[in-house]
Amino acid sequence: MIELKNVSKWYGKFRALADCSVSVSAGEVVVFCGPSGSGKSTLIKLINGLEDFQEGDILYKGQSIRSGAIRLPDLRRRIGMVFQHFELFPHLSVLRNLTIAQEKVLGRPPAEAEKKALALLERVGLSAHAGKYPSQLSGGQQQRVAIARSLCMDPEVMLFDEPTSALDPEMINEVLAVMVELAQEGMTMLCVTHEMGFARKVADKIVFMDAGAIVETDAAEDFFRSPKSERARDFLAKILH
Ligand code: ADP
Repeated sequence: MIELKNVSKWYGKFRALADCSVSVSAGEVVVFCGPSGSGKSTLIKLINGLEDFQEGDILYKGQSIRSGAIRLPDLRRRIGMVFQHFELFPHLSVLRNLTIAQEKVLGRPPAEAEKKALALLERVGLSAHAGKYPSQLSGGQQQRVAIARSLCMDPEVMLFDEPTSALDPEMINEVLAVMVELAQEGMTMLCVTHEMGFARKVADKIVFMDAGAIVETDAAEDFFRSPKSERARDFLAKILH
């Protein structure tokens, strides 16, 4: 479904990604982990064109992003993204946050958009909050709204960039529970996260990065049982400790 081929990216003179190759099949859950600053967030942002890159290519269902074979608006419609900070519209109700892009981007009639929004709010356990504004919700609730908002667009793939790292500990599980459910329903997911419990539970594949490079890509059970590289072993020992 997604293939990164020898991708390198520079911010000015700084090489943030070095020769990264990954492939993700439909229905796969891939967790990107590694030390802070290793390029995880940059890498997943390339996939929906939030950042550009200078070398290599990314194919989405066989179509090159770099060559423009698939256009950015089309790509972004098919790929949902959830960020660390929820990026909800503060001046719109929860319900309107969920309907506005359905109407303006997908051209859905308002009644249909609302029906979809309410169904997804129910799915993330927030039906009672449809009329509230984001500031009236906890961080965990806002993040669940952000996930529901992405799902309203019927994405083929979901990207998560540290979706729980801005949350208080007691709210992390409610967001992870929604992500676990999505994974178990077969959504193709690429997740940057330090939540190794989540990774253990649902990831098919772990991509371990350091200093802009992919150090190893393993089946999740192999990664947790015996990572191949010294760097991954160190990282796991620290994070699990
Ligand atoms: P991670 O997600 O693994 O913490 P990032 O992808 O955020 O890492 O960052 C990788 C490296 O690129 C870091 O050294 C970071 O400082 C740098 N970087 C990230 N975004 C920018 C930017 N917009 N301009 C310049 N450097 C950046």
